[in-house]
Amino acid sequence: MRSEEALLSSLERIDGRGYKAYKDIQGDYDLGDCSLHIDHVQGDPFAAPSKLRLRVPMDVAGLPADLRSSRVRRLALADFLAREIRAAIRTKLGRRPPAHPPEGGPSDRPGGQRRGRGERSGSGKSGLIAIDAGAQEVIERTAVQIHDDWVEARLEVGLPASGRRVQGRQAIRLLIDDLPDVALAGMIWEDLPGARARAFVDCIENQEAARAQLDALGLVAFVGDGAVLPRESGASDRPLDAREAVPFSAPPSLAIQLEVPNAVVPPAGGEPTRMLAGMGVPKGVTLIVGGGYHGKSTLLRAIESAVHPHVPGDGREWVVAAPDLVKIRAEDGRRVEEVDIHPFIRELPGGRSTRRFCSDDASGSTSQAANIAEAIEAGSRGLLLDEDTSATNFMLRDARMQALVHREHEPITPLLDRVRELYERHGVSSIIVMGGSGDYFDVADHVVMMRDYQPEEVTEAARRIATEQPTGRASEATEPMDELAARIPLADSFDASRGRRDVKIDARGRDELVYGTTLIDLRAVSQLFDRSQTRAVGLAIHLATRKLMDGEAPLGRVLDGLESLLDEEGLEALSPFRRGDEHPGNLARPRRFEIAAALNRLRTLRIRQIGAP
Ligand code: ADP
Ligand code: MG
Repeated sequence: MRSEEALLSSLERIDGRGYKAYKDIQGDYDLGDCSLHIDHVQGDPFAAPSKLRLRVPMDVAGLPADLRSSRVRRLALADFLAREIRAAIRTKLGRRPPAHPPEGGPSDRPGGQRRGRGERSGSGKSGLIAIDAGAQEVIERTAVQIHDDWVEARLEVGLPASGRRVQGRQAIRLLIDDLPDVALAGMIWEDLPGARARAFVDCIENQEAARAQLDALGLVAFVGDGAVLPRESGASDRPLDAREAVPFSAPPSLAIQLEVPNAVVPPAGGEPTRMLAGMGVPKGVTLIVGGGYHGKSTLLRAIESAVHPHVPGDGREWVVAAPDLVKIRAEDGRRVEEVDIHPFIRELPGGRSTRRFCSDDASGSTSQAANIAEAIEAGSRGLLLDEDTSATNFMLRDARMQALVHREHEPITPLLDRVRELYERHGVSSIIVMGGSGDYFDVADHVVMMRDYQPEEVTEAARRIATEQPTGRASEATEPMDELAARIPLADSFDASRGRRDVKIDARGRDELVYGTTLIDLRAVSQLFDRSQTRAVGLAIHLATRKLMDGEAPLGRVLDGLESLLDEEGLEALSPFRRGDEHPGNLARPRRFEIAAALNRLRTLRIRQIGAP
């Protein structure tokens, strides 16, 4: 490890030279309280910023042991520290303080951009300091790593330049003063807001503990009393102003209590308690009905995002969902490769089979059918559907339409005729927002009506109406839905190379993954929450092609393999920088369902299917 003086004199020496001279400072430096590791130096001022780590020994950082005592608590503490560092970048380095509390921030925007203490100048990304802290969701990520013996922040820095010349003085201030200043502000316990850190860790641990109980209680989701579900706007994931938001309150018939490990003041106020009251959403088929604009989709979206914990103050930190719920929607135009959609679409015009359905441009109904088949294949035990984003003909076909268009001319078996079977034979629950058709009353275990943003259970009334007013329709599911055929993804159909690079995988925002030269459109995959997850999805697919796709393993097994790898080696296993313990990049852990979703949308994907007739 080199000394601080060595860094200083290197920077003085290269001052005014061409930008490439910065390569000389790559390496490890002892800065006294911490060490600085310059892992990657950008090629020019406009290129992706340089990657640096700052490591503090644990006896210097003094992070309390009880906040690092389990995987979940460590993950939560690391997340908190990353947010504190981001806040310090904003406040200490002259960026205007955010209008809202430092938690969160618009999803997938990298931490702060430094506009120096007044006088930042320089070309390209000169002077930028950023950390990949999270948005409203708390997701395992690589930005801060807590080890038994040290804690480390991974930052991106724009090494200062004037034109394409090294600005040595500015670099000295940036690397030796500013960077340690903001990073240590978020890693040294004495300087941190201890009570907030504890509350944050406790809150995340509570959410994971609540989630872990759902299955045994026969639930797929829990929505706590006092939760704030609506968001500020379509473009902001922050909570709607408390003066406008109607807090959630469970209907008595679905009210339950969950015990959590840490006492909290419930959202409505009162004494700290370890019992959380709220609505349990049982396994089975649950309908959410109600008038337009009464909060149906908002409730479903809150459940959809509650597969991850939320930061305190989000409003959804009182909502938890089973980890394997998958949002299903129509997605016309998507690619589908060898998916058995036969349970929903019997055949194609001309009598072509749908057991190995392929399309470069699927329709609304075929895409929605493929989305369900793929979710189940990836291991989902619960589907979330909203009429707003579903194909009507996929959801239902009423008696009048059955009378006019005979079954032999309609290949679709609507979800209405499969949704009970999905649960009873395959163990897959559904939560369906359906304000437009009462035909679903026949198949629902529970019906929740939203009125003025408040839920009410109306199962009895819906049953009575179903008996008094039969739909007159006949089920179109004439044969049972079998186990889906296994699909084996073929490694040689993936090509991560671009130009001279063997592996070139980038996320352009949350929605677009560029895999080699292929663009994967993830706009319809709503349970990806930030760009770092999207990046990790791409790298996970690449890792799977090299290590797990052996021409025999079906997709489910490939996903199992990836999960155990990530569990054992951490997200770092995906890092493109794997020499020693270098900067792992900006990664957040995706679920297996989103990895599968991206893989299934890759336009070059080839599958070998086994087991289909
Ligand atoms: P629906 O799906 O029933 O038509 P939405 O869920 O789209 O209704 O909600 C309609 C509007 O009401 C949205 O702008 C949403 O932000 C707002 N909203 C939803 N729930 C609440 C609530 N609990 N308090 C205040 N506003 C809400
Ligand atoms: Mg809606």
